[in-house]
Formats: sequence, structure tokens, C-alpha cells
Amino acid sequence: MKRLVAGCLVLISIATTALGASGRQPAPPGAMEGAPPQYTYFSVAELERGFLALAFGSDLRVGVRPLGIRRFDQAIRARIIGGGSIDRTIEMARVIEDYAREVPSLELSVAPPATTAEIELRLIDEKDFQSALQAAFGAKIAKAFVTRTDPQCMTSVKSTSDGKIVHSVSFIIVDKGDAVFRDCAYHELLHAFGLSNHDQRNPWTTLNQHRMVGYLTVYDRSLLTLLYDLRIKPGMTMRQARFVLPRAIAELGLATPKQGR
Ligand SMILES: [Zn+2]
Repeated sequence: MKRLVAGCLVLISIATTALGASGRQPAPPGAMEGAPPQYTYFSVAELERGFLALAFGSDLRVGVRPLGIRRFDQAIRARIIGGGSIDRTIEMARVIEDYAREVPSLELSVAPPATTAEIELRLIDEKDFQSALQAAFGAKIAKAFVTRTDPQCMTSVKSTSDGKIVHSVSFIIVDKGDAVFRDCAYHELLHAFGLSNHDQRNPWTTLNQHRMVGYLTVYDRSLLTLLYDLRIKPGMTMRQARFVLPRAIAELGLATPKQGR
């Protein structure tokens, strides 16, 4: 599947170490057919590498730069705005439940009707994608984004100049099969929470556009747990994040072998 083409404005170079991930396991129950297996044990360096590459930078940035860490600093309510020719609202709600359960520090829930929501998940058919982007962001931004990245799904994250996300909107395609939907749903939510970048050389993350995963891997769960740890603050620079990451990884037990996942 061709979903997004790499087109990063920000090139981040990070020293890589030899691959040491271990604990290979099949995709968890409920994952789509053909979902790739995952590694479940990672070294501190492997987690740092992914975090620094994915929490900084993005394909298209509008407005002030440079920005450091971006994340919500409040409980997150998500709203599913159903649409398209296939009803996938229940499946989308399950994906939200999965994130809420696996990363409690997100304080993630589905927004009750008629309340504000921090994240909007718009389910649409592929043919409506361009017009939906235009309606949401205006013709200029939509054109710039499509020209640069040829996207099939898309997330826009709006944050304050000090890195606090105020609102995220994701467009998720529902009519190109289960695999595309699930891959988009998990992938775009990672962006919506603040992991804004891609890394095509990272073999473990869903944010590698050469991979289709379709479930929340131990690796991405660990990166998100780090992003929403209290030591990682909105607006932090890469240098500041590097400084606190080793201790955060150690104290959260993320690099410690665990059974069961
Ligand atoms: Zn993406």
C-alpha cells in the first residue's frame, strides 16, 4: 500500500546502534490478518532513538518554528465523526479504548455528545479526502500538503508556541479495506497525541511509512508512555529531552524485559 510519501522538512540525525531488539512475538489477538510480528524488548538506546526521531519534527509545519516537544497537558477527549460508505465508528472506538487502556497517562476517553473534544477523528472515503482537507484547512495548506506528501490519511496538530497541543484533527480512510483503515487509525492517533514525525529507517514503529502494522505495538506504546511521562514537558528541546530520557526509561521499566506482551 502506498499511503504517504516521505517528505520531511526536518532531518534529524541520530547515532544508531546495532539492532538489539528481542522478544519477538506474533501480532496480538484482534490484530488484522497478516499483521507483522513485533519485538517486545528494547534497549535504552533503541527507545531513545525512536523517541527523538518521532517526537520532534513533522512533514509539514505551518507557523512558528522551531518547536520542541508537543503534547497535550490535560486529559484527552476524542470524538469520532463517522462518515464514508462503510461504518467504522465501532472499530474506531475500539482503537481509542486500546490506547486508553495501554497508555493510562493519556487520560484518554471518548467525548460525550455536545462537549468539546481535544481530538477529532473524521472517517471518510478516499474520494472525499482532498475536499475534506480543503474544507478543514483552506486550499493553500491542503495543496501544499498533498503536493509534498501525497497522503491517504492525515493529521493536523495545532499547538501553542510553548508546545501544548490544543486540538488535533485526523482524517481516516474507511473504504480501502480493513488493513488500510487499521493502519491509518493507529498511525494517525500517534500523530494526534504528539508523535508528529516519521522514521522510515526504524524497523519497529508504526510511524515507518514502509510498514503496515494495524495494532499498538509494545515499541510505540513505550514511546507514547515516555511522551506522557511528567518528566517530558511541552516545549522541551531535544537536548533537554535527551537529558531526562535515560532516567525516565529506567524508572518506567520500559527497557526491562517483561512477560506477556
Ligand atoms: Zn504519518
